Amino acid sequence: MTAVAQHKNVLDIEKIRKDFPILSRKVNGKPLVYFDNGASSQKPQSVIDATNKYYSYENANIHRGVHTLSQEATSAYEVVREKVRAFINADKSHEIIFTKGTTDSINLVAFSFGRTHINEGDEVLISAMEHHSNIVPWQMLCVEKKAKLKVIPINDDGELMMDEYKKLLSKKTKIVAVTHISNSLGTVNPVKEIIAAAHEKGIPVLIDGAQAIHHTTVDVKDLDCDFYSFSAHKMYGPTGVGVLYGKEELLNSIPPYQGGGDMIKTVTFEKTTYNELPHKFEAGTPNIAGGIAFGAAIDYINSIGIETIAAYEHELTEYALQQLNTVPGIKFIGKAKERASVISFLLDNIHPYDAGVILDKMGIAVRTGHHCTQPLMDRFKISGTVRASFSFYNTKEEVDVLVKGLHKVIDMFK
Ligand code: PMP
Repeated sequence: MTAVAQHKNVLDIEKIRKDFPILSRKVNGKPLVYFDNGASSQKPQSVIDATNKYYSYENANIHRGVHTLSQEATSAYEVVREKVRAFINADKSHEIIFTKGTTDSINLVAFSFGRTHINEGDEVLISAMEHHSNIVPWQMLCVEKKAKLKVIPINDDGELMMDEYKKLLSKKTKIVAVTHISNSLGTVNPVKEIIAAAHEKGIPVLIDGAQAIHHTTVDVKDLDCDFYSFSAHKMYGPTGVGVLYGKEELLNSIPPYQGGGDMIKTVTFEKTTYNELPHKFEAGTPNIAGGIAFGAAIDYINSIGIETIAAYEHELTEYALQQLNTVPGIKFIGKAKERASVISFLLDNIHPYDAGVILDKMGIAVRTGHHCTQPLMDRFKISGTVRASFSFYNTKEEVDVLVKGLHKVIDMFK
């Protein structure tokens, strides 16, 4: 049984933690303190069971079989599309394209939308805090098309400079692609305002929601974004599954990303006609087990409630910021007013890698390095940070363990 909120905004964390088997293991002889949720989240038993159940009882390829197993697997998989639709409040379930993850979703848009709509001299507008997944596909496209990659600057607190953004929007801008929440700084970007400003000039907007979808309510209709991408593995689901949401009209107006089975209506050696949405963008056998387990992850999040999760994570982050502030020589990288449960910092002259290795010896998992945002690190003239990223299954006691651990790291380098 999934742990549920006892009453609004109050979580029974002990009960929740029991849903995640990995949280009771030890690492290097110490209870695991998992603060690398920004990279990937842990999985509840219900997600693990869903994977098991599929392979044990339902395994068959989908969409093509008349036999019972294939039909059962098809409906179990397609139910998830509807769950995703409801989760992000999209209009239609065929606006939900299953992909391998955020990276795959953005590549799809860069390839398919980009190749159709972006030409020599055009501009693609991204921000200074993008993950490499929302830089490199656009860069590749720009090289191919002789287009220009433009970058919205950020201030020293790690917030987008919105005036500069508005100045960068021009007739040449063919798409704006920005992250909803920064994986390195925790900054929550004003995506609704970003989208509205671009739309005033008729420019479509892709939002990279990899760090937002499990931390905050995402309503694609309210945002009015044209594309929204995210990964199941950051939302307590399996790896290798993700989503591209796109507005129906836009998805219909662009060509398929990959060719193969499932994305076709008819094939002759002379000509292929393409399947309808969403299948047009889903060539080949997908990650069926992963898709079904993704459904269990969405059920799990819904059983607690994304608003309850957000409120708890906010409280935990505030606590962590206060406690971390007591660590001598700590320097926070990213001090946005609107922030999510990601905290990046440096400890005097201690290399983040060294801090990470020592913390690991104490069972504490943090991420160190550039977090796939090298240009952002360049902006702050650093090579990387230590990053602690929290989830609703983390506790204030774990934050205290981290703070103690950091004191030890500092003592060792004295
Ligand atoms: N964008 C952001 C903001 C991310 O944090 C990540 C994952 N760290 C990605 C994109 C890429 O996600 P994935 O590796 O699941 O494709």
